[in-house]
Amino acid sequence: MRNPIEQRFRRHNPTVQAIAALEGLFFNKRGLDGMRMLRRADAFERGDLFPQHARQRKSAGANGLTVHDYSTGATLAEATTEARIVEREVIPQNVKKRASRIGVDYMSRAVHLNSCVRHMKFSLLPPKSDNLVHAMSVTTTLRNLSIAIALSAAIVYAQTPEQKLIASAADALGGKARIQSIKTIVIEGGGSSPNMGQNPTPDAPLPLWKVTEFKRTLDLTNGRMRVEQHRVAQFPFALATDVRQNQSIDGDVAWNTNPDGKTQRAGGAAPEDRRIDMLDNPVVIIRATLDPAVKLSNLRKRKGQQLVDLTTPQGDKLTLAIDASTHLPTSVEWMTSSDNLGDIVNTTTFSDYETVDGVKLPKHYLSKIDFRNWVSGDLQVSKNAVDGTIPDLAAPAAVKAATVQPPPPTNVTAESVGKGVWWLAGSGGHRSVVFEFDDHLTLFEAPASEARSKAVIDKARTLVPGKPLTEVIVSHHHFDHTGGLRTAVAEGLTVITEKGNEAFFKEMVARKATLHPDELARNPKPLKVKLVDDELVLKDKSQEVDLYHVKNNIHSPLLLMAWLPQQKIFVQGDLYDAAWTQHPWGDNYQENLTLRHIDFDKDVPIHGRIQTRAEELAAIAATKK
Ligand SMILES: [Zn+2]
Ligand SMILES: [Zn+2]
Repeated sequence: MRNPIEQRFRRHNPTVQAIAALEGLFFNKRGLDGMRMLRRADAFERGDLFPQHARQRKSAGANGLTVHDYSTGATLAEATTEARIVEREVIPQNVKKRASRIGVDYMSRAVHLNSCVRHMKFSLLPPKSDNLVHAMSVTTTLRNLSIAIALSAAIVYAQTPEQKLIASAADALGGKARIQSIKTIVIEGGGSSPNMGQNPTPDAPLPLWKVTEFKRTLDLTNGRMRVEQHRVAQFPFALATDVRQNQSIDGDVAWNTNPDGKTQRAGGAAPEDRRIDMLDNPVVIIRATLDPAVKLSNLRKRKGQQLVDLTTPQGDKLTLAIDASTHLPTSVEWMTSSDNLGDIVNTTTFSDYETVDGVKLPKHYLSKIDFRNWVSGDLQVSKNAVDGTIPDLAAPAAVKAATVQPPPPTNVTAESVGKGVWWLAGSGGHRSVVFEFDDHLTLFEAPASEARSKAVIDKARTLVPGKPLTEVIVSHHHFDHTGGLRTAVAEGLTVITEKGNEAFFKEMVARKATLHPDELARNPKPLKVKLVDDELVLKDKSQEVDLYHVKNNIHSPLLLMAWLPQQKIFVQGDLYDAAWTQHPWGDNYQENLTLRHIDFDKDVPIHGRIQTRAEELAAIAATKK
């Protein structure tokens, strides 16, 4: 049989041939004409139709079958047809053998159409075979009748190479059926959680929270998760050093539970972060990816790994790496964005797999970011449990009913605290200070975030009409004090900082921000710096600001503080905060004041409130008792 449709099919790739033919089988029976078939084949060739691009709905059918409903009406004007495929995981051995012999894809599908059940077995032909016609055999089971018929075209609903990769990973982890049957997973262990961007110097190791207890409870049936952990600071810290966290997600609803049982709905990035955190597990991500609603693309190789990109129905994008020889997932990557660093590639590596109830789960999770190869989390698993009893992780009604609070609007106030000196406070926990010189203004600190720092810069520019803001003093490299570094550079400000911070700042400024393009991404500029060694005096007829390097400070040995000797005003960040419950470097603070002969009337700080030296000394002394 050599009709024009088949001639046309033969020029398409095997998947196109097969899918079109499969549809042909159905729609010919419904009287579909040849021209329409041909046009559909063209659409397949363009890749804008069935199966990945059609609307799909998956549901469970009788007898353990999975029903896929496809509707193509939305993507092609003349194709208003729908297809239903009922799949069962049986691939007869002879089909398998034949498939591997000819080196092409094969599938076994049962197809349900018009209330009939057709069990179809088929294999694909080599793309160049002249034997297209008559080569396929299809067994149709209509109710209890078995009728073997020879077809005049190839029939296939082929797996893409990406789907094959996921299937091989599912096999390696315990088999598709086992993976899909898992109801719960509980992972317990301990490890460490670094304090990002808070190392004493840019090149020092990150300070660690020791995670003494960790428990991740996954309810895979309902898409819920809870992470409980107890963490203890392994570094000097001015606030609570022993913290318990209990964070949950149920669908789109994220919430936290206090040790006293009180709950608060978590907004902002929490739902998205926790959704991705759920997928940060090889079994969970492979199980999720077996769902055809997850889009797979860009299969590629990297150092003994096969990589595939996936997009979840919620729009989350991740990259999965699978070991080419063991087929076990080795890592998952995803991108986040930060005001300090722009785009961040997060990678969690899975290793040290063990088998629990027929499922392979890692005993080690190591997470890193693509900035200085920093470790962002390290979990050693002491116990993996599959399908044990877990508490109900459904979001409580009160949490569901609670509205997600938007972050308060950014508000910057300017308070005159001396001659040509303003303290910029308002919303948030970080303040900045503006100094007025003869022909320009200088800002002390661009903290927190782009939004905060942009608002601060805009406010500073209104303080003295006609006088430009030209530079910013950045007290130290900690991320809460450099959240506006990229913004300040984009705004054309010269950055004044301790010389040991220069390389780090250059790296921060050079990073891309494609996920959430910030002002610097839209308006790229190089970092301009004025570096401070031991001290730098900024002085003209209007103002004198002496910048000093703070010596031997354990919080940051590269910290700068500012002293205005004519006005007895002192400016500092992270040496003292009236809200701190302890002052681990309180003595070092006083030693530095003595060394520089600073005896201020007013400390105008980056955190907390303006205080006198006597008030601060009393507060530090009180915490020593
Ligand atoms: Zn700091
Ligand atoms: Zn701070």
